[in-house]
Amino acid sequence: MSEADVIVVGAGHNSLVAAAYLAVAGYRVKVLEGRERPGGDTCTEELTLPGVLHDSCSSAHNLIQSNPLIRDNELRLDAYGLEYLFPEPAYVFTLPDGESITMHRDVERTAAEIARHSPRDAAAYRELLADWEKLRPLQARERGQAPLPPEELDALWRSGPLGVEALRLRAASALQVIEERFEHPHVRAFMAWTAMLTLEPVDRPFTGLLAFSLVAGRQQHSWTTPRGGSFALPAALIRRIEAHGGEVECGAWVERILVEGGRAAGVVTRDGRTFRARVGVLSSQHVTQLPGALGEHLDDGSRRALSRWRAGLTMFVSHYALAEAPRYRTHGGDTLAVAMGVLDSIDALHAQLAAFRRGRVHTDRPYLLCVASTVVDRTRAPQGMHTLKVIGIQPYDLAEGPQRWDEIKDEVSEALLETYLSRTVNLTRRHILAKHVESPLDLERRNPNNFRGSCHGGDVSPDQSGWLRPAAGWAGYRTPVPGLYLTGACTHPGGSVSGMPGRNAARAMLADLGVAWDEVLARAAARA
Ligand SMILES: Cc1cc2nc3c(=O)[nH]c(=O)nc-3n(C[C@H](O)[C@H](O)[C@H](O)COP(=O)(O)OP(=O)(O)OC[C@H]3O[C@@H](n4cnc5c(N)ncnc54)[C@H](O)[C@@H]3O)c2cc1C
Repeated sequence: MSEADVIVVGAGHNSLVAAAYLAVAGYRVKVLEGRERPGGDTCTEELTLPGVLHDSCSSAHNLIQSNPLIRDNELRLDAYGLEYLFPEPAYVFTLPDGESITMHRDVERTAAEIARHSPRDAAAYRELLADWEKLRPLQARERGQAPLPPEELDALWRSGPLGVEALRLRAASALQVIEERFEHPHVRAFMAWTAMLTLEPVDRPFTGLLAFSLVAGRQQHSWTTPRGGSFALPAALIRRIEAHGGEVECGAWVERILVEGGRAAGVVTRDGRTFRARVGVLSSQHVTQLPGALGEHLDDGSRRALSRWRAGLTMFVSHYALAEAPRYRTHGGDTLAVAMGVLDSIDALHAQLAAFRRGRVHTDRPYLLCVASTVVDRTRAPQGMHTLKVIGIQPYDLAEGPQRWDEIKDEVSEALLETYLSRTVNLTRRHILAKHVESPLDLERRNPNNFRGSCHGGDVSPDQSGWLRPAAGWAGYRTPVPGLYLTGACTHPGGSVSGMPGRNAARAMLADLGVAWDEVLARAAARA
């Protein structure tokens, strides 16, 4: 179909979430994806060997567990093939002296791991989780709707049981919170590693709540793993969209948004095709594309604001096909785990971040996040084979320019692998059957929404979040062009597999169309 009620640009999970709610509400949706396959950064591919399925980007679907979409099963995605696994242990955290901390699904078992290092820190851990129970409903309200103006946001956080202390915790850096509450260097490193999982620099003001939310989220939902691969989420959403007469078309790169009579009326693709929208356009294009896509329909102030957009921390990713499952060196012997963390100390973290900010490659005592999904999901590889993803933090911009990555990425990958192997009890290079490396530059090549290698839409700094995301006057999923709506990681509350920008954008659009949200949910429940 070249005409639909709503044209949706991009088939990442956020725009698919929005499209699914719109389809359930009775609108005919057409999703146009520029690449040859849908899913964006929620994709699963044979990157190394035939039959070995790697999550090329995201693996852990943790943040989406607290989205009503999954928490309340609003779209019944289980009936469309989506199943989540909640591994035990959630992950292990290893240290160079052979010590470790394992996060178990059971809080008391995790606390016992921490108590081996410091009984006082074990008590602080329980207290942190208890404090988060008081803060969590406030965060759910902040994230689960269009961003609030600053004064309303402050009032929301002050209204909770911690009162004004909640404002202080929000404004602090996560490292400050960790150093205030925990004493042992190993425990501090464990907490800081976890607080960095969404790749926000934890030494920066306004990251304080990450010290609570990411730790408590893992404690509650483990290392949530979609059976079959990260693509299981977009696959289920596409089935739901198609069940309501919607369509997803790949290989359709949207170059221009049509504006007629002052309203968004459709899009034009790179190959010259026009797709008309009777009701509106919902786009997950990266915000840096919008000036080009809207041309003269964008005012100068908006053009300037959108072009100021900054990328955030960037990842360096090595994928391996292994001949054996990794077993990690932990206090209690060797352990099989879906995920393993490396961060030697808070000093090592400062060194990693300092190198990043100077545009330098850093492989000495690195921050590493290592995921072997096949340990809990045997559907992803032939018998006896396993997948491994080793993620580090490296800058996109090198002194010699980003193109330099093509020359040095193998060397950098080898150096990080050395650290990784030293934390396993059983793996050597002989167990590696094949590998595939993606530098920050490659991540941008695979998906232009990984702007300058940034994999969470872009920095979630105070000037690029909430009421100011993606830009002043553009928050709330609506744009200055009537009928044009935005979603995706560049919109509130930002990146990760949370589905929140998608659900919130659908709510904003449907509210403007006069459709009651309760009715949409009732329709979704009635037709699973
Ligand atoms: C290596 C890596 C590991 C990660 N690990 C995790 C993890 O474990 N857990 C987690 O929660 N998050 C993780 N993330 C982050 C997370 O994957 C992303 O933040 C999230 O998937 C973004 O989803 P999205 O729907 O907003 O956009 P995207 O997934 O980026 O999708 C946007 C889509 O729009 C398409 N598009 C863009 N412009 C156009 C256009 N003009 N025309 C047509 N199509 C267009 C793109 O091709 C793309 O398919 C990771 C990211 C990376 C790169």
